Amino acid sequence: MRIEVTGARDSLLFHWPEGAEEYSPVIKVGVSGFNYAKPPKLYIAYGYRKVFGALRRRILVFRNEADVLAEFVGADSWAQDKRVATFLRRDGSKSYLRVDDPLPSRYKVFNVVRSQSVVTGPYAPQCFAAIVDEADLPLLAAVAIAREQGEAPDMAETIPIVKPTTVDAINPPVASHDRSRDAVQALLDYRSKQETGGSFTGGNKEADEFLRQNPFAFLMAASIDRGALAEAVWEIPFLLNKKLGQLDPKLLSQMRLEQLEEVLRSLDRKPRFPRQSAQTIISLSGLVFNQFHGNAANIWEDKKPSNIVQTLEQIWGVGPGIAHMIVRILVDEFGYDPGPEGLRQIDVKPDTHIIRVFCRTGLTQNRSGKACVEAARQLYPEFPGLLDWPAWEIGRTWCHEHSPECVKCPLYNICPTIDIRIKERQS
Ligand code: SF4
Repeated sequence: MRIEVTGARDSLLFHWPEGAEEYSPVIKVGVSGFNYAKPPKLYIAYGYRKVFGALRRRILVFRNEADVLAEFVGADSWAQDKRVATFLRRDGSKSYLRVDDPLPSRYKVFNVVRSQSVVTGPYAPQCFAAIVDEADLPLLAAVAIAREQGEAPDMAETIPIVKPTTVDAINPPVASHDRSRDAVQALLDYRSKQETGGSFTGGNKEADEFLRQNPFAFLMAASIDRGALAEAVWEIPFLLNKKLGQLDPKLLSQMRLEQLEEVLRSLDRKPRFPRQSAQTIISLSGLVFNQFHGNAANIWEDKKPSNIVQTLEQIWGVGPGIAHMIVRILVDEFGYDPGPEGLRQIDVKPDTHIIRVFCRTGLTQNRSGKACVEAARQLYPEFPGLLDWPAWEIGRTWCHEHSPECVKCPLYNICPTIDIRIKERQS
C-alpha cells in the first residue's frame, strides 16, 4: 500500500450532529498500490477535544463528514511521545473489542495494546486500541482502513492485508520510541539524495567555476558567509576579482580597510556587514600570504581537520562554526579526505536554521548552538558535520520560524512538531 500526500489546507470546520469543531491542519492523501474498492482519497485532520478528563489531541481520518473511518485520541503520554490511539470495535458492531475477544488478524500488524495502558480518565473505554505516532500519515491511514474493513462487511473481500512494513508505505510503530535516531536517519537520507557539485551561487556558472578552481576565492566566500543570503555572498569573490582585476592575497592584505570596504559596497552582491567582511578578507589574505606562501590550499593539504580549524580561527571574524563548516565543505565538494578519525573531528555549524531544526525535531531540548554540536557528536559520531547541510537546507527551505511548511518537509514523518501553530496557540 502506498500513501501519497496530495494536498493540505490550514483548517477545516467539521460538522458533527452536536456542533462544529475546528481542525488544523488537514492533510489530503491518496491511497494506492492495492485493489481498494472505496474512493482512494482520504483526509487526515488534526485538532483537540476535551475528553476523558483532559484536553487531548484528536485526529480524524475521513472521506467526508458522513464517512469517518477512524477517530484517534491523544494517549496519556502524548505530551512526551506524540502517540495517539484509536479504540477498536468488534466486526460489524458498534461495541468495543474487549481484551478477551480474539483479535481480528488484520490488526496483528499494528501496535495493538490494552486501551487502559495508554488512555485513562473518566469514561475511557477498556478495550483493544491501536497506537500510532501522530505524524505517521501512512500508519494512521492504514489503521483507519483496517477498521473500515470490519465496520463495513462488504469491504472485507476487497482489501488485501494492510502491511505496515511495506517499504514505501509505513514506518514501524516502534519508530517513535527512538525519535533522535529517526531524525538523524531522516537527515542522512535527505543528504544522500542530494548531489554534490551543485551551484554555490544560485546559478552563476562562471562564479561557481571560479570558486572551484581558486582555493583562495572559496576560502574568502566561506569566511564572509554570515548574515546574508548565502548564494549572494558566495558570488562576491568572483565580483571582487572582476572589479579589482586580481584576487591576490598579497595585494589584498595590503589594502586599507576603508578602501576594501568601499569596493565591497560597490559590488552588485554585497555582504551584509561590508566593514567586517573587509576586515575578514584582509586578515585571511595576510594569513595565506604570510604563512602559506600565498596558496590557500596549503591550509588543508595533508592536515587534520582539528589543525585546519585551528588555523582558520586565526582569521578575523571566523569562529569555530565557520571553521568547521569550511572543513565540511572541503570534504563534500573538494575531495578533502581526512579518513575516519578526521571525520569525527568535524562538527556542525549551529546557525539559526540548524538550531531551529534540531530543536523542532527533538534532537535538542532547547535552542542552543552548544546543544546542537553535542547532539550531533553523540548521535552521529562517525561524522557529526554531515548533519549540518541537510538541517540547514531544510531549515531555510521549509522549517521557517513562522508558518513552517511541515507537509512539504522531508522530516514530516519523524518530526514531533507536526503543527507548531497549534502548539503556539495552546501555550
Ligand atoms: S518544517 Fe515542520 S516537519 Fe519539518 S522540521 Fe520543521 S517543524 Fe518539523
